[in-house]
Amino acid sequence: MVHKKRDPRLDGAAMERITQLHGLAGDMKQSDHILAQRYIRLSEMIAERMDITLPPGIKRSYCRNCGLPYGTETRVRIKNGICTVACSNCRNIRRLPYKY
Ligand SMILES: [Zn+2]
Repeated sequence: MVHKKRDPRLDGAAMERITQLHGLAGDMKQSDHILAQRYIRLSEMIAERMDITLPPGIKRSYCRNCGLPYGTETRVRIKNGICTVACSNCRNIRRLPYKY
């Protein structure tokens, strides 16, 4: 893949849009799962198209399996430096290294 020259203004706009979509997804996750998931998928698409990496704060805040933001129902356990996150929606389990 040939990388085009990056335009910092476009990157900024894309990041702004992603943050916005993520906020919307968070607002919708209680009332409308489908819409929340759509917002998350959209932000992933933008990131992919713009060839940018989602900020870790966003990347870790939703389920990569079903695309739903983690909420109060989500179970998080920390054991031996591994943070285990279980999605309340699809039961997908994700393990992340826990740093502090
Ligand atoms: Zn899930």
